[in-house]
Order: sequence, then structure tokens, then C-alpha cells
Amino acid sequence: MKILKQYIKSFTLWELLVGLRLTGVYFWRRKTTVLYPEETAPTSVRFRGLHALRRYANGEERCIACKLCEAVCPALAITIEAGPRESDGQRRTTRYEIDLFKCIFCGFCEESCPVDSIVETSLMHYHFENRGENIMTKEKLLAVGDRYEKDIAKARQADAEYR
Ligand code: SF4
Ligand code: SF4
Repeated sequence: MKILKQYIKSFTLWELLVGLRLTGVYFWRRKTTVLYPEETAPTSVRFRGLHALRRYANGEERCIACKLCEAVCPALAITIEAGPRESDGQRRTTRYEIDLFKCIFCGFCEESCPVDSIVETSLMHYHFENRGENIMTKEKLLAVGDRYEKDIAKARQADAEYR
């Protein structure tokens, strides 16, 4: 009897029909995939992407070289050197680097910063092509901040409302 059943099943392509039935069921369901990169899934206002250093509206960099972000970073990804600025003697960073290969995108640096200087943007579409590009220098971080300041300010506002 068992052999007969198996024979009928293989003769009628039973497994194929079962598979097609499943395909048919999911064919009409709401699609949960998106056509990346043309479409992207929505991200949270608290998404932690590429870092940026911000400036005040008058162009002055916010960072006061307190090194809290460096101290709090669990991955030891931040390196800061500081000294008095030549023009007015104010304490400023002479070197500020984040190693993105070490960073675990925990957001602690952003949380610890007393002047809202280091932030994590919603940027996720970036890549490296050459050795060493994983090091985000102060110039690169400030450039990201300058370019996306409007979006960053909006995201910070949304985050504050979310809390
Ligand atoms: S996100 Fe976390 S791991 Fe990355 S630099 Fe900031 S504190 Fe360090
Ligand atoms: S980015 Fe913020 S926490 Fe880090 S050194 Fe500058 S002021 Fe301090």
C-alpha cells in the first residue's frame, strides 16, 4: 500500500503541486522585501550611522577637546590629542580620529558629548576602497558635519521629541 501511494505521488508530481500551492499563497501576500538600492526600508530616528563633528552656526567647531567620548568608547576607537589654539589659546583638538573598523556603533560617544559635537548620522551608504580610509580624521568628520548639518539638526530634534 505504501509503495502504491509513493507511486501515485511520483506519477502525479505531488511534491511539486504542494510547492506550487505554497508559492501561490505567498504570491498574493503583502511583500516584505524592498528593491534595494532603488528603495530603502525606513530607519529609526535613533539609527546610528557614520559619525560627524558639528559646528555652531557661526562656523566655530563645537568640540572643546574634553575627551569624554574617547574615555567612554568601549572599543577604544577614538584617538584625541589636544592643545591650546594658536589664535586665542582656547583648548581644541589637534587630532581627532575614529577607527571605523573598531567602532561598534554603540552611540556612547554621542551620548557623552556635552556640546553635541560628535554625532552619528543616518548615513549608511559608504565604503572604503583603500587601506587607511577606515580612519575618520577630524577634517573628514567636520566635512560630513558641514555637509549634513541640516539633516543632523533635524534628527537631533526628532530624537529629543522621541525620548
Ligand atoms: S559609536 Fe561607540 S564604539 Fe563607535 S566611536 Fe562611538 S563610543 Fe566608540
Ligand atoms: S567630541 Fe564632545 S565629548 Fe568628544 S572631546 Fe569633543 S567635546 Fe568632548
